[in-house]
Parts: sequence; structure tokens; C-alpha cells
Amino acid sequence: MISLRGAAVTPTGVVPDAIVTVSGDRIASVRPATDADAAAGERFAWILPGFVDIHNHGGAGGSFPDSDLAGCRTAARHHRAHGTTTLLASLVSAPGAHLVRQTAVLADLADEGEIDGVHLEGPFVNKCRCGAQDPAAIIPGDPDLLARVAEAGRGWLRSVTFAPETAHALELVNVCSHYGMVASLGHTDADFDTTLAVLEHAERLGVTVTATHLFNAMPPIHHRVPGAAAAMLDAAALGRMVVELVADGVHLHDRTVDLVWDTVTPTNAVFVTDAMSAAGMADGAYELGDLHVTVTGGIARLTTTDGTQGSIAGGTSRLLEQVQRHIRRGRDIAQAAAMAATTGAKVLGLADRGSIVAGNRADLVCLDADLKLAKVLWRGAEPPSAQ
Ligand SMILES: [Zn+2]
Repeated sequence: MISLRGAAVTPTGVVPDAIVTVSGDRIASVRPATDADAAAGERFAWILPGFVDIHNHGGAGGSFPDSDLAGCRTAARHHRAHGTTTLLASLVSAPGAHLVRQTAVLADLADEGEIDGVHLEGPFVNKCRCGAQDPAAIIPGDPDLLARVAEAGRGWLRSVTFAPETAHALELVNVCSHYGMVASLGHTDADFDTTLAVLEHAERLGVTVTATHLFNAMPPIHHRVPGAAAAMLDAAALGRMVVELVADGVHLHDRTVDLVWDTVTPTNAVFVTDAMSAAGMADGAYELGDLHVTVTGGIARLTTTDGTQGSIAGGTSRLLEQVQRHIRRGRDIAQAAAMAATTGAKVLGLADRGSIVAGNRADLVCLDADLKLAKVLWRGAEPPSAQ
């Protein structure tokens, strides 16, 4: 039996001096410490639920869109060692045959228990909002291809990003319904009504809807032309969908994160890294799918040859750093934990994690008084160390 002591962030609030016990791979109990516990438990400042990242392309040099099984495993372990105990491996737009092949590789990794599913980002997105998606690989919505990728995933394809204005968008939602996948709307130039129509169709079918990195790869909100961003923000405020935020201080201004945090609330917003292989690595040259990326000062951008600034090409943060960033800014730790763990687990329908309650999987992140990572438990044990 493992016993941890510290301020535990639970769904009902922070228990300032708690004892959290772990038995096997489960949380056995969570309770306030008493005088009888004087010597009990390994001590930490904070005990948080293990983080859930539903949009992540890699790390530590491993790239989910194109690495082999070993490279993908390295990436998953890197994020886990930094507190991300549940992770979807994200693909990028690529030819259909490649997507089918790589989804099968990632399904093998999920069978191993190293990841919790696959997120397909593209290829049914809008070329004019491609961001770091290869425009040459972007195609109109193809429900048959989506079904083929889902079949290759053997139940592990959990989420797909497409633009609401792509061809056959409602049929893509039908495929999501058939395979129990999340419909994630993004890389879009859609207007408000087109976005809402896809959401309403998904609601009729009971399909969970998210926004793929809200505000990134879509037009900003114009007060007379509200567009997809306004539609998704409004829907999230009403609890009809969940918006992803790459809350790393690079993809979004911190005050933009605050705006969503305070209007949509942490129940309907989720931190994601959108991390690529350079997460946890030095500045330098990397690849994201077939595109070249240069990381300078920790910021990944598409490599350009004419001296212009390339598009932001995925993130280099871990969820841990996003949580640390916003707590240090003075934001509420329980709300940050909700966006880094609880809400993501809800999106994936994983009822046994994302919060510190007895019976849940013992996925825990322990921080010291400086918010530095002190210990990670994954299924009740310390995960293998990684870079
Ligand atoms: Zn992405």
C-alpha cells in the first residue's frame, strides 16, 4: 500500500492536508490527515490527478505521425514521465494509405497500454487554414476513408479533426457515431451556421464534439462575422461541446486563455499540448509529417527558405508546464487540474480517471512547493523514466 500526503486536488475541492492511499492500480482512499498520521505518507506540497492530453503528436524525438513503434513508445513514455498518464497519439494529414498503416502501428501501441487511443487530425480540413498540416495531403471529407482508418485502429481511433465546411461533413459525424469517436472541429474557415449545423447533427447522434485548438487555425472572431470560433465558444459556454486550448503562452496569449477559462469554465475547456517530436528536446531541425520544422527558443515553426516567419507547427510543451504556468500566474490550481485532467477524461468517456477519488485508477502527479514535479504514479506505480 502506497501512502501519499499533501494538499490533494479533488473534485470537491482541495483537501489541504490529505492522505491518499493506493492499492494495486487503484486509489484506495482520500481523507484528511489526523494526529494519528504524524509519520504517515510520503510528503508533497500538492497531489493532482494524472494529466490527460487528447491532442499530442509526440516528444523526445518520437513522432506519432511517422515514427516506428519504438519511436512512438518513446514519445508516450516521455509525456508520461512528466505527468501525462492518459494520452491520445495524434496523426497529421497524410495520404490515406499512410494513415491506415500508421493507425495500425499506434493501435499496437495502445494494445501495449502505452497510449489510450489515436486522434486523426485531418486530412479533411480547410487548405486555407492548414497551419502545420501539409496542404498537399488535405482532401475533401471522405467518410469511406475515415471508416477504413477506424477499422485499422481496431477501436483505438478515438477522435478525428475535420473542418465543418468539408465535403460530407455530416456523414463524417455519422462515422464518428458508428465507431464511438469524438468529432473535433478545426482547421476551418466555416461560418457560424455551418459550424452549428455540424454540432446539431452530432448532438442528435450523441457524438461528443470538441474544438481542435480553439482560435488556432481558424479566423479570429469578427463582431459582424462571428464564424467558427464564436460558434464553438458559445456552444462550449452552453455545455454543448468542449474546446481545446494550447495554453503554452505561444499558441495563445495568456489573457485569451483567461477569457475562455472564465466564460466557458474548466468543465468545457481542456488543455492540450499539440506537442510534436521536439517536446522535451533542444532547439533545432525536426519534422512533422512531411513538413520541416525549426524550433527556436522552444517555439516550433514551419521552416521557410525566404526568411519569413513560418506558421506555428505544433507545441513543445508538456501539460505539466501549462499547469505550472497558469498556477504561477495566480490561477486556481483545482481549475487548472480540471482542464489538464478531469475534462479530458470526460471527453474520452473514461470514467475511472481524471480525478482523485477512491476507486479511480491511481494516476497521480505530485508537486513540490515550487510546483516542480516530484513523483508520478501511473496505474499505481512509477512509470519507467524517460528523457
Ligand atoms: Zn495537432
